[in-house]
Amino acid sequence: MSTLGPDPLRRVQDPGLGFARVHRSRRTIAELLMEQSVVAGVGNVYRCEVLHRLAVDPLTRGVDLSPETWQEIWDDLVLLMPLGRTFGQIITIPEQVEQALRWRRSGRARAITRSLTGERLGDTFERRFLVYKRTGETCPRCGGTVALRELGGRRLYWCPACQTRH
Ligand SMILES: [Zn+2]
Repeated sequence: MSTLGPDPLRRVQDPGLGFARVHRSRRTIAELLMEQSVVAGVGNVYRCEVLHRLAVDPLTRGVDLSPETWQEIWDDLVLLMPLGRTFGQIITIPEQVEQALRWRRSGRARAITRSLTGERLGDTFERRFLVYKRTGETCPRCGGTVALRELGGRRLYWCPACQTRH
């Protein structure tokens, strides 16, 4: 039996396998997203950013997370992680995601990336995030203040004012 969770970078994956593990855990969704047995390959940046994009309270315990919210988290990872691989950088700001999707749809992502950066990937988009490493700054959605907390040995960035969904 595999101990690895579903991988958003692979085509055919069963997010239900991840949810089965989330649903019986009393640990927080913020911690569970860093568990390779729940979902593979999610680093700290995607973890923080996706929870903010979906307005999910990162301190929600796995047992209390709704299946609908889990599906949305999974769908967002499936959207963002391959996009990050295409452009060689993590893209989570909505305008940047839209732009990246347009470029990928048009089939010109590779050419555009080359023309902007030479052969180097990772500089196509300005490096900006919603909450990651933005402690004390203003939340782009609600005007609240981005908070920082150590959780499971990793730094969690989130907006306590608007991330309230379970
Ligand atoms: Zn906020």
